[in-house]
Amino acid sequence: MWTQGWRDTVWSQLDREFDLIVIGGGITGAGILREAARAGLKAVLFEQGDFASGTSSRSSKLVHGGLRYLRNAKIKLTYESVHEREHLLKEGRGLVIPLPFLMANFRGDKIPAWVFGFGLSLYDILALKWNHAYYQPDGLRGLCPQLTSPEMVAGYRYFDAQTDDARLVLRVILEATKDGALALNYARVEGLLKTSGRVSGVAVRDLMPGSAPFDYAQGEKTAEVRARAVVNATGAWADSLREQVRGPKRLRILRGSHIFFPSSKLPLTRAVTFLHPKDSRPVFIFPWEGVTLVGTTDVDHGAPPSTDLRISQAEADYLMEAVTHAFPGLGLSLADVQSTLAGVRAVVDTGKADPSKESREFVLWNEAGLLTVSGGKLTTFRLMAQTALRAVRAILPEHPRLRWHERVLDPLPPETTVCDLPPELRLRLLGRYGNEACNLDEVAQEGELEAIGASPSLWAELRWAARAEGVVHLDDLLARRLRLAINLPGGGLNEMDRIRAIVQPELGWDDERWEEEEKKYRELWRGYYSLPSA
Ligand SMILES: Cc1cc2nc3c(=O)[nH]c(=O)nc-3n(C[C@H](O)[C@H](O)[C@H](O)COP(=O)(O)OP(=O)(O)OC[C@H]3O[C@@H](n4cnc5c(N)ncnc54)[C@H](O)[C@@H]3O)c2cc1C
Repeated sequence: MWTQGWRDTVWSQLDREFDLIVIGGGITGAGILREAARAGLKAVLFEQGDFASGTSSRSSKLVHGGLRYLRNAKIKLTYESVHEREHLLKEGRGLVIPLPFLMANFRGDKIPAWVFGFGLSLYDILALKWNHAYYQPDGLRGLCPQLTSPEMVAGYRYFDAQTDDARLVLRVILEATKDGALALNYARVEGLLKTSGRVSGVAVRDLMPGSAPFDYAQGEKTAEVRARAVVNATGAWADSLREQVRGPKRLRILRGSHIFFPSSKLPLTRAVTFLHPKDSRPVFIFPWEGVTLVGTTDVDHGAPPSTDLRISQAEADYLMEAVTHAFPGLGLSLADVQSTLAGVRAVVDTGKADPSKESREFVLWNEAGLLTVSGGKLTTFRLMAQTALRAVRAILPEHPRLRWHERVLDPLPPETTVCDLPPELRLRLLGRYGNEACNLDEVAQEGELEAIGASPSLWAELRWAARAEGVVHLDDLLARRLRLAINLPGGGLNEMDRIRAIVQPELGWDDERWEEEEKKYRELWRGYYSLPSA
């Protein structure tokens, strides 16, 4: 639990000698920290922004085998991914949830329906689960009446899964800290320390804002932290730390963007996927957290990685064209879009003309003692963590081998321990908060076990997250602990009075700090969560 003062406690423990330092608080770093803590290593994680503020809160939220990887003949990647999906569906109940898909085929598609049928058969064989079926257009419309296009010729039903990516990261990190690991957000690794030419620690700077006028870029506190092994899990940022061990630049930074419609405008009960009419890339549209997600693009980012990311007009138009192609009867336009989200991913640069052809498999490099783990998928984080830990064992041979079938998420307490709510809501809270879910009942004040507007989140979650989930800035709370930046109109700015009444006292902010944070959130939302034309 990260209640007020937790960061000072962690800072005060940084002078010990660690077994492992993990740089980067996305899903890759989180998974490695979790496995390290389980193996009994003294481990610490540093994240320069908020936990999951990089790619791991900006993914398409699918826990999936990745049918399109089959198209690129990536059988191993698909095999691993479907197995991890099954694993996470079992362990992550309430957080990783099954998502029924319809794959619609339209006249003129470059890939005929039977090829998809073949791919889906392979998909199911790899998962050891026969779970797809062929449909004529009328059958598809029976399952999704919004698919009115007369151009639809056939389709399939199959299953994958979805999650809340930022909550998944947080749950993994929090469970690692309960097993003894340390983790700090807003702690940037500025340099690598070396002993006899090999990496043996990091120089870290605290980016906590001090007193007014708050400087969000330059904290004053620094520390040199030593460890026997250092893992660079900085995703799209990985090349920049590798430079310090003379690693040549190897990563290509691709951007993927999403648009979100209110469910009332695009009401789906299952995911729909099809080929984009322009370039035959698969697009998917599905219900997620009270909104409907449309994704994604795959373009060269053409700039250093950043979290200040905005969808381009061309990307928004591309996604809108897909929506109109599949759902011409709904008369939707970009004016109906509620929010947007863009993320960058790192792939190994092999110079392919089409970014989508670059491999999504993860890489592990050992350069002068710096282990870099980058690429891969949210879905396969457990495998990546286990592979990284096996490489760490070469440096720390006395530590026990990991067992392949170890759980990655802690078992959930019984549903009866959580607030008196309908079973599906209880499960949702358990999935998100794990063992902490029972605290929501205790902190909830009158009326706070109700949903916040059209979002599925409860007011009590806001109170709990502000109190105990390591929130440093307002966007940590509104964009990642809860996903109000995406699933409320205007990112929740209309609800700000009630949000403030609940969270300002919990965060212990004075009025000056609150106003500064609210202004910053307003600018952030306009800049990066809305359309370029808005
Ligand atoms: C648009 C898009 C859609 C995707 N959709 C899916 C999907 O549906 N399903 C799926 O399985 N996968 C998906 N992926 C892939 C998946 O999201 C990524 O593989 C995964 O999130 C990467 O996690 P990471 O921890 O490696 O990187 P990140 O989440 O980016 O974490 C790296 C962290 O390192 C931090 N950092 C950088 N430098 C420093 C430093 N010097 N000191 C401290 N911290 C530092 C950054 O702030 C960042 O938070 C998608 C990717 C994209 C881009």
